Amino acid sequence: MDGLPAIAPAPSTGCDSVLVERGQREVFCGLTGIVWLHRKIQDAFFLVVGSRTCAHLIQSAAGVMIFAEPRFATAIMEEKDLAGLVDANDELDRVVLRLLGRRPEIKLLFLVGSCPSEVIKLDLSRAAQRLSRQMAPNVRVLSYSGSGIETTFTQGEDACLAALVPDMPIAAATAPADLLVVGCLADVVEDQFRRLFAAMGLPKVSFLPPRHAGDLPSVGPNTKMLLAQPFLADTARLLEERGATRIPAPFPFGAEGTTAWLHAAAQAMPVDQSAFNAAVAAPRARAETALARMRPELEGKSIFMFPDSQLEIPLARFLAREMGMQLTEIGTPYLHRQHLAEELAMMPAGVRISEGQDVERQLDRCRAIRPDLTVCGLGLANPLESEGLTTKWSIELLFSPTQGYDQAADLAELFARPLLRRTKLRV
Ligand code: SF4
Repeated sequence: MDGLPAIAPAPSTGCDSVLVERGQREVFCGLTGIVWLHRKIQDAFFLVVGSRTCAHLIQSAAGVMIFAEPRFATAIMEEKDLAGLVDANDELDRVVLRLLGRRPEIKLLFLVGSCPSEVIKLDLSRAAQRLSRQMAPNVRVLSYSGSGIETTFTQGEDACLAALVPDMPIAAATAPADLLVVGCLADVVEDQFRRLFAAMGLPKVSFLPPRHAGDLPSVGPNTKMLLAQPFLADTARLLEERGATRIPAPFPFGAEGTTAWLHAAAQAMPVDQSAFNAAVAAPRARAETALARMRPELEGKSIFMFPDSQLEIPLARFLAREMGMQLTEIGTPYLHRQHLAEELAMMPAGVRISEGQDVERQLDRCRAIRPDLTVCGLGLANPLESEGLTTKWSIELLFSPTQGYDQAADLAELFARPLLRRTKLRV
């Protein structure tokens, strides 16, 4: 179609050339996802069953004010719990009942497992079933693991959404085809996509997760799912087991990625080509103009990405193809070759993709390259800054609305800002 990106295989970035490392890692655990998930599902509460370390992690990641009534908390396991001197299940039930008594607006409670709850083998799925029976029909209790032993960073969202899938109503085989967008998007982004789909003639599009626990969309053999995030392997697999079909597409970052993502959905539903063109023309042109203004800030600059969020490959594709950045090494904690096939095909030749991590070796490679910009987790950023490298915290890429046309220039700016700061400091 007119002006759509050519998605052709790039042999040098084929999966054979991926550097796979299994050493020491420097990534957040899956608890971090609570920070954006609790903002999205407005009547849900996330109760981490963990230690003071877990509490500090999400408290500082979320930057919650002391007077706020947040929708997450940590049930702190004390030494007597860990030593098995008390029944942790009794303690947990007491905490949950007190919480639900005080917060009647909670309709969905997630018990979130952590390293300590896993180490003492506290069975949170059984606890969730027990509490769900007790609290029915007012509150549904589900569980998932956000522990650093089992999950990295964005896998917490995957585990949370996967926990919701069994509760989704079953759509009949005779139901008309429906589009399900999967992945936590900021409300403003979701609203923009809803408007674009409606303009194409698709007024009924569902989103997982929904804004309210009671609005879980249905899923069945006529559900076409469009992944909005590249880290939803388990959720997608469970939805496929319920009959949904995944729409292969790149991810909606930048004007090009957003167009290709929307176009993949339009073709699958199907939407008339002229209706698609009419719906995207204006916002796409706006995004391209805004990106053209940002391009001089990034063009020709080299970038190195440490593995952290699993967003690295789509973001690198955007930065290379639309902003003219030079990719050096692009790391990702896991590479889902099927979900990322369209992204890999769009990557420029000669980029090293690494999967997993051996942090010391990767640091050596980064120091040898001395890129203009390094994207990494908080733990690596300060040491690298002190060595004269310019860094970007990858966590910000999750906390900010970045998908879609209207956010494309903001996304570019997130990468331009540290370069600008460094230039100012040097003057
Ligand atoms: S779940 Fe594990 S890795 Fe995450 S904060 Fe708690 S102890 Fe640390």
